[in-house]
Amino acid sequence: MNSEQISGLYIHVPFCLSKCPYCDFYSSTSLIALPLFMDALLKEMEMYRNKFNSFDTVYIGGGTPSLLSLQQLESVLGGIRENFDLMPNTEITIETNPADLHQSYLKSLREIGINRLNIGIQSFDLKLLRFLGRRHSLAQAFSAIEASRKAGFHNIGLDLIYGIPGQAIDSWLDTLRRAVSFSPEHVSCYQLTIESRTPLGKRYQAGEFSMPGEESQYEFFMKTSQFLEDAGYLHYEVSNFAKRAEYTSRHNQKYWDHSPYLGLGPAAHSFQNNRRWWNHRSIDKYLAAINAGHRPVEEIETLTTEQLLQETLYLGLRTKKGICLEDFKKRFDYDIFTAKRKMLDKLQEEGFISIQDGHLYPTPTGLAVADSLALI
Ligand code: SF4
Repeated sequence: MNSEQISGLYIHVPFCLSKCPYCDFYSSTSLIALPLFMDALLKEMEMYRNKFNSFDTVYIGGGTPSLLSLQQLESVLGGIRENFDLMPNTEITIETNPADLHQSYLKSLREIGINRLNIGIQSFDLKLLRFLGRRHSLAQAFSAIEASRKAGFHNIGLDLIYGIPGQAIDSWLDTLRRAVSFSPEHVSCYQLTIESRTPLGKRYQAGEFSMPGEESQYEFFMKTSQFLEDAGYLHYEVSNFAKRAEYTSRHNQKYWDHSPYLGLGPAAHSFQNNRRWWNHRSIDKYLAAINAGHRPVEEIETLTTEQLLQETLYLGLRTKKGICLEDFKKRFDYDIFTAKRKMLDKLQEEGFISIQDGHLYPTPTGLAVADSLALI
């Protein structure tokens, strides 16, 4: 970690109005504990005021933060400002469900200082939207995007999912076409993954449907990259595209370059001074710890230099800006260029990476297999 890097703040709102069957994020559909969570969150902020001073990104995620009322969000932002300094031009993002985005709510989100909106569209194909168990309709997706613009949001991200059982490439390209027709500043395209403990995972194990094979997933990935690059977007990370460099997610960048970040709320992760820690993945345990006056931390791990080195490779090879070999050498006292020369030459010949101006970059093909590339 570079100590001059400014920290990011993540808030995990652990509630959803309904549970999507593919989702493994921690959230509850019972809102009974919501008022208690709101109080606990403010107390948790106080518990960290001496450990973190200032932030230049805030990301309110979940769960579904857009189910919070305006007053509740105001209280979250008020708590942040009371306990920490927010730098000028702090990127403040909220994850939202299109069904929650009414004009007056959106206008108020802008007024309280939220300047970046992530909208969970997932698909513009109604059949697939139903398969994913989303609670919003297509009409709500369209009107949410339009209303966001009218409310004055100039930095909007659309989240989409591909590789859904039964999804044809043409249907996916149609979803992408509709997405870019709104000219969003940011698009995230996530490949559907099956997590065994989710309802979809159980249906998959019972043989109810099959998933697209590796070749098909590769085709989805490459067509996505091609389509969005042709539409003028920068493919700057495996799953992320931005209209211009200024619209890349500054908050997510902190996860990718080992900048410090504080995560508050159940299941939230934090990182500072080579230490990573995470909160209880249970609202009850989270509340109990805070009410007993403790930070609600479930576990802390200190990363060894070897672990940091491997993570830097893994994360760097998932981003278009790649890895600066000189910085890498300075940070880890390890000359990957010399130590892994043969392997790097082979990967370059096979078209997975390119080495230019002292940098190691993944090619588009390399980005498609980024997880395996990190094994070098
Ligand atoms: S709304 Fe988001 S967090 Fe909630 S269940 Fe669905 S995918 Fe998961």
